Amino acid sequence: MTALLELTDIRRSYPSGDGEVEVLKGVSLSIEAGEMVAIVGASGSGKSTLMNILGCLDKPTSGVYRVAGTDVRTLDGDALARLRREHFGFIFQRYHLLSHLSAAQNVEVPAVYAGAERKARLARAHDLLRRLGLAERGDYQPSQLSGGQQQRVSIARALMNGGQVILADEPTGALDSRSGEEVMAILHQLRDQGHTVIIVTHDPQIAAQAERIIEIRDGELISNPPPSAVRASAPKEISTAPASGWRQFSNGFREALTMAWLAMAANKMRTLLTMLGIIIGIASVVSIVVVGDAAKQLVLADIRAIGTNTIDIYPGKDFGDDDPQYQQALKYDDLLSLQKQPWVSSATPTVSQSLRLRYGNIDVAASASGVSGQYFNVYGMTFSEGVTFNDEQLNGRAQVVVLDSNSKRQLFPDKKQVVGEVILVGNMPATVIGVADEKQSMFGSSKTLRVWLPYTTMSGRIMGQSWLNSITVRVKEGYESAVAEEQLTRLLTLRHGKKDFFTWNMDGVLKTAEKTTRTLQMFLTLVAVISLLVGGIGVMNIMLVSVTERTREIGIRMAVGARASDVLQQFLIEAVLVCLVGGALGVGLSLMIAFTLQLFLPNWEIGFSPLALMTAFLCSSLTGVLFGWLPARSAARLDPVEALSRE
Ligand code: ADP
Ligand code: MG
Repeated sequence: MTALLELTDIRRSYPSGDGEVEVLKGVSLSIEAGEMVAIVGASGSGKSTLMNILGCLDKPTSGVYRVAGTDVRTLDGDALARLRREHFGFIFQRYHLLSHLSAAQNVEVPAVYAGAERKARLARAHDLLRRLGLAERGDYQPSQLSGGQQQRVSIARALMNGGQVILADEPTGALDSRSGEEVMAILHQLRDQGHTVIIVTHDPQIAAQAERIIEIRDGELISNPPPSAVRASAPKEISTAPASGWRQFSNGFREALTMAWLAMAANKMRTLLTMLGIIIGIASVVSIVVVGDAAKQLVLADIRAIGTNTIDIYPGKDFGDDDPQYQQALKYDDLLSLQKQPWVSSATPTVSQSLRLRYGNIDVAASASGVSGQYFNVYGMTFSEGVTFNDEQLNGRAQVVVLDSNSKRQLFPDKKQVVGEVILVGNMPATVIGVADEKQSMFGSSKTLRVWLPYTTMSGRIMGQSWLNSITVRVKEGYESAVAEEQLTRLLTLRHGKKDFFTWNMDGVLKTAEKTTRTLQMFLTLVAVISLLVGGIGVMNIMLVSVTERTREIGIRMAVGARASDVLQQFLIEAVLVCLVGGALGVGLSLMIAFTLQLFLPNWEIGFSPLALMTAFLCSSLTGVLFGWLPARSAARLDPVEALSRE
C-alpha cells in the first residue's frame, strides 16, 4: 500500500543576493494515513517551508512529492486548489481568519469554494463550531474572540470539507498554555477519528504528544522514525459533494457576489471613495444625454414653431432680385388655385409696404402687411386681444387692422384695451380689431413695428396694386414639404408659362440646427466619456491598492482551496459592483440635477429616456469590467505562500 504523503529528496531553495540559499536539503519522508506526526526543529530550520510543500501551497525546487500516489507535479493550479480544498485542512499559528467575516462565515469559506449548498454548509459550520465548544460564538467577528477561540474557529474551518490531512503549523505558538492544551486535545480527538494530523512545533512538550517525532535541522531530517502502527480507521468521506453544472456556476456566482458585498461593506469609506469617480462619471453621462436631448428638442421645437411646414413663395429669381419684369409675378389667381390643392392646409398672401401710423399726435413708422385671416395661424401667432379678419372683412376690403404688441405700446402707451380704437394707416382710417404677438423665437424678432390688414384692403385701398409680394403656404400634416414644394413649383410654372418666382422654407434651417446640436452633443458626450474614464482609472487605482492591502486575505482564501479563477471572479465582481452601485447613485445624482434644472428652466422638457438609463448601466458595468480586470488578475496571480506571509 502506498503511503498517503510521500516526499522523495525534496529540495527547496530561495534566491538570495547573487546566489541561492537552500532551505530544504533533500528531505525524504513518508506519512501514512491516520498518523499523528510532529515535526520539530529550531526556528528557521525549514519546518514551515516543509509544511507548505506538504500542503501543496508551495512547490519544491526539485524532488518528488506524491499524494496518495499522485505526483503533484502533474497537477495544475486548479487541481492543487481542489486538493487543498477537499483533502487538506490548514491550521496556522496566527489563525489567519478573515477579519470581516463572522466565525461561522469563516468556517464556511472552504465549502463555498467546494460549491456546497448554502443550507448544508451553514448547518455543518454551526455543527462544527458546536463540537468545538463555540456554539454561541457563530456570529462573532474574529476580533471579538480570544486567541484560543480563534484557533478553534480555524480548526473548524480546516474540517469543513473533511480535512483528511490536518496540517498545523505551530498551532499553539500564539496561545496561552491552557488554550494550547485545549487545541492539542482537539487534535488528538481528530487523530482518533481517523484524520491524519501533522503538527509543526518547536516545543518539545507538544511534540512529545505525537506518536512519531520527526526532527529537522538546517533543512535536513536528523531523526525520522518509521511510522508506528497505523490505525485501521479509514479516512472519512469528503462531506460536500460539489453541485453540478449550471447550479454550481450560479451558486458560485451568488457566493462571489455575497463575498464581494461583504468585503465592500467592511470598508465603507474606501468603497465610497472608489465609487465617487464613477458617480460623477455616470452622472455627467446621463445628465448630458438627458439635458442635451432636452436642449435639442427645445431648439428644434423653436424652429418648428416658426414653421417648417410652411413654404414661402417670392417673385423673382432669388432673394435680392428686384428686376421689375418679375415684380408682378404672383397674382390673386395663383393664391386661389394654391388654396385648392389637396396638400395645402392654408395659403396666405402678403403685400407689404412701409408707411406711417398715426394716433392723436403720435406718429410712427411701421411695416404694414396685407394678409388673409389664416396668416396668424400659419405662423403660430397668438392674440392677446381681439381676433383675426373674417371672410366678410376680406371680401369687403374692410378698414380694419391688427397691431403687434410693439405698435400697441407705441400708439397707446397708457391704454390696456385698444380694440375698437381708430388709427390712421397711411392716410386710411382703420379700426383696431386685434393685437397679435409674434412667436418668440431664439432667433430674435425685428425691431420694426408691424401691423396687418386684409390683403384686399392693403392692395385695393392703400397700394392700388393687383399683385402679391409673396405667398406663404402651409403644407398639410402628412405631406412631405419637399414634395409639396416640387408640386407647387410645377403648378405655378405651368400657370405662368415660366419660372418667375422662387420658394424658400425652414426645412434647411432645421437640418442645419439638427446638425449643430448633434455636433454639440457629441462634444459633450466626449467630455462625459473622459470623466467616466477618469472615474474608471480611479476605480482601478483603488482596487490595485486594495489587492495589495488584502494580499493576506487572498493567501488565506487560496490556502483553503480558492482557485485563481475564484479570486479573479471575486475581485472582478467587486469592481463591477462598485461601478454598478456608483452608477445607480450617479443616475440618482443626475435626476437631482435634472429636477433642479427643471425648476429654473420650466419650458425645457427634461425626461429620462430608457436610453439614458441603459447607457448608464452599460457604461458602469463596462467600466467595472474594464478597469477591474487588471487588479483582479494581479490578485489571482499572487503566490499563496508569499501572500500568506504578508502582513
Ligand atoms: P521555520 O518555520 O522552521 O521557522 P521557515 O521554513 O519559515 O523556518 O524558514 C526557513 C528558512 O528559509 C529561513 O532561514 C528563512 O529565512 C528562509 N525563507 C523562508 N521563506 C523564504 C522566502 N520566501 N524567501 C527567502 N527565504 C525564505
Ligand atoms: Mg515557521
